[in-house]
Amino acid sequence: MQLTQSKTIRYYRIGVRWASLLTLIIFIGHYFLPAKTLEVKAPLFVAKLYGFVDREKGTSAYWVNEEENHWICHYKSTHAYGCGWRTSPDLEPVGSGVDLTSYDFMEIKLQYTGPASRIRAYLRNFNPAYSDPNDLSTTQPMETTFATAEANQPVLLKLSDFALAHWWLMERKHRRHWSEPEKNNITSIGLDFVEQGKHEVIVERITLIGKWIYTETLILIILSLWMTLFLIEGGIRFYGLYRAGQRDRTAIQALLERQRALEEQNKHLEALADTDPLTGVYNRAGLRSRVDSEKIRFGTLSGLGVLVLDLDHFKNLNDRYGHDMGDKVLKAFTSLLAMNLRTEDIFARMGGEEFMVVCRRQPLEGLRTFAEKLRSLATQCTFNGDDDLHISVSIGVAVVGEDEDFADAVRRADQALLRAKQNGRNRVEFTAPL
Ligand code: GH3
Ligand code: MG
Ligand code: MG
Repeated sequence: MQLTQSKTIRYYRIGVRWASLLTLIIFIGHYFLPAKTLEVKAPLFVAKLYGFVDREKGTSAYWVNEEENHWICHYKSTHAYGCGWRTSPDLEPVGSGVDLTSYDFMEIKLQYTGPASRIRAYLRNFNPAYSDPNDLSTTQPMETTFATAEANQPVLLKLSDFALAHWWLMERKHRRHWSEPEKNNITSIGLDFVEQGKHEVIVERITLIGKWIYTETLILIILSLWMTLFLIEGGIRFYGLYRAGQRDRTAIQALLERQRALEEQNKHLEALADTDPLTGVYNRAGLRSRVDSEKIRFGTLSGLGVLVLDLDHFKNLNDRYGHDMGDKVLKAFTSLLAMNLRTEDIFARMGGEEFMVVCRRQPLEGLRTFAEKLRSLATQCTFNGDDDLHISVSIGVAVVGEDEDFADAVRRADQALLRAKQNGRNRVEFTAPL
């Protein structure tokens, strides 16, 4: 996962480098893009003439050559209004136009002969909010004019110069709400005359010129793309941190578990080190540490009874019944004794068939009774219904004197035990109280 994460970041960085280069190329490149153009001509656009209709002389506008967009507008003083030429996109349904919002200029190439000083160019926009498909006059007119003198060369008109016709706004009361010029659904583009006379026109070409993309739009797109990229990067980094956190937590958890296991194992080993494997009671080391704790707890060992117990003629028992039986006897003796001890008493096997009990019994007479009890318990031991098998124990007792080392007290107890053996075994011998 670590590897995948850093790999992702590396690929991402390479990606960012390429994206930066691409952004620069696109940004500079867009200035060199060829202009976006739209030719206003057939078949998309269909041209028509309109004018004042005289019952005898016909319409004031008529074609000289329709194919070449060659027409004449004869605006006479008797006519109520002028005449002109109009081209509309041939789209269904009525009211469908072309969107000119991405165009900036209209280039008009025409030939004019006649008395007019200016030609009016106009656009009409259809908006269902206020336009009626059956009434062309309800489309929004935007107009500008240019001098006929300019017309021997292509005339470049800015689309933003096409102003909303004031008269149209005045015509119906609610139109004042739509005083903003709209060019997103242009249904006709036209040329006409407001001056009287005979005007002859050949519309050679009308081209709308714009940009494929505006710098502002491009900047917006680039910014959004980069923001998305940064958000993705943030996401990846956040996810990485989240995963790393998760990994750390798991690792810590594993370490804690391992520590717990080790502690457990340690306790077990400590217990093993302090315990005699055959009988399960303390060994020498266990007794040592328990006695040390006792000293720490009470400040002194003075007054503690030390009983050294040694089974009598145990060698004989081994010889007669076998070593395994000897082991069983050791275990049974231990259990029996343990059952008759208090929890605070310390009971240990010192090796072979020798045991030690460290206890507090006050007064001293109590200790004697206790030792006698243990001795007598040993004689009561029975083994698997074998009536011949009897054991006895000799016990040497000492009481730890004031300022006496524990080891010295043990030595005295050992001497007492020796005396017990010498005096015939199966008995308790005391050292003289200090
Ligand atoms: P005493 O009355 O003088 O103490 O005589 P004893 O035979 O008990 O003493 P001795 O020291 O001569 O013999 C102790 C015997 O205890 C020797 C050994 O075979 C036996 N022994 C020591 N450890 C174990 C043990 O773990 N298991 C068994 N079955 N026997 C053991
Ligand atoms: Mg012995
Ligand atoms: Mg013995």
